[in-house]
Amino acid sequence: MDESKIINGKEISDIIKAEVKRETEELKAATGITPGLAFILIGDDPASEVYVRSKGKACDSLGFYSVTEKLQSNVSEIEVLDLIQRFNDDNNIHGILVQLPLPRHINEEKVIEAIDYRKDVDGFHPVNFGRLVIGSSSYIPCTPYGIVELLKRSKVNTNGANAVVIGRSNIVGKPIANLMLRKEINSTVSICHSATNDLRDFTLNADIIIVAMGKAEFIKSDMIKEGSVVIDVGINRVDDTSKQRGYRLTGDVDFNSCFEKVSKITPVPGGVGPMTIAMLMKNTLDSAKGKIYR
Ligand code: NAD
Repeated sequence: MDESKIINGKEISDIIKAEVKRETEELKAATGITPGLAFILIGDDPASEVYVRSKGKACDSLGFYSVTEKLQSNVSEIEVLDLIQRFNDDNNIHGILVQLPLPRHINEEKVIEAIDYRKDVDGFHPVNFGRLVIGSSSYIPCTPYGIVELLKRSKVNTNGANAVVIGRSNIVGKPIANLMLRKEINSTVSICHSATNDLRDFTLNADIIIVAMGKAEFIKSDMIKEGSVVIDVGINRVDDTSKQRGYRLTGDVDFNSCFEKVSKITPVPGGVGPMTIAMLMKNTLDSAKGKIYR
């Protein structure tokens, strides 16, 4: 196996976290400011608990201050909004993250819009999203931001490339498509989704394919072009009796069948996944520095 084809997200995210840690020490020494991140976790979804715990651990290891408020699943919307307001007003908090998904009785849009956009380190607030599209300074959602860093640091030539994004979610598909359009990336972008008539028609012409579908191993070797770069965002659980836990994690791309054809590819796990937390830390540090909004 030609290891040089693999874009190693674990390695790249470790480099970014080391950069953030060093800059955090410098910021503390120069200003006394410690980057602070508040997590709001509602209910007891095991996956959400794992995500918040690992983000909290990242805060500890990089020298951030963090606080987690765990609320019962029957908490009222107004209580959640009040808590957000408290963190909006707290000068020790530079980033607020409400772990999604929320219980059905809580309006996700209202919650996201209640976060002060200057502390919206997830980049989901309409102000940040709008500024991202315009190309102004904003918080960039962490997974798309991580993809951009993977492409840059792996020296993928994006200039004039045909980039195909599969998936149109607000957290991955739409923001990454807009980022790929930016002058410094300069790709020609197509966005495919569940109503796209002939997906292969797009993927077979793609120099770069970014897949965020949530469909295990959907993209096969006969759907991609020789020499293409494949970024696999998907995280899917598939049954696997050979594993003690009864399942394995896999991406939206059939890694083994595509490997021969690609020039570069991200594995799952160990590709896009680890980048998400690294970019959350970077956004929070930038908030503490007043780099995005002064
Ligand atoms: P989503 O689940 O909100 O939407 C999936 C998208 O795929 C939709 O826009 C849909 O139109 C498109 N789609 C579905 N079937 C299709 C088909 N046959 N052809 C073309 N398009 C099709 O998406 P999401 O929240 O962006 O998540 C996508 C995947 O990425 C999931 O597996 C999720 O777990 C993973 N994810 C990973 C990270 C990470 O940190 N690595 C972060 C976010 C999401």
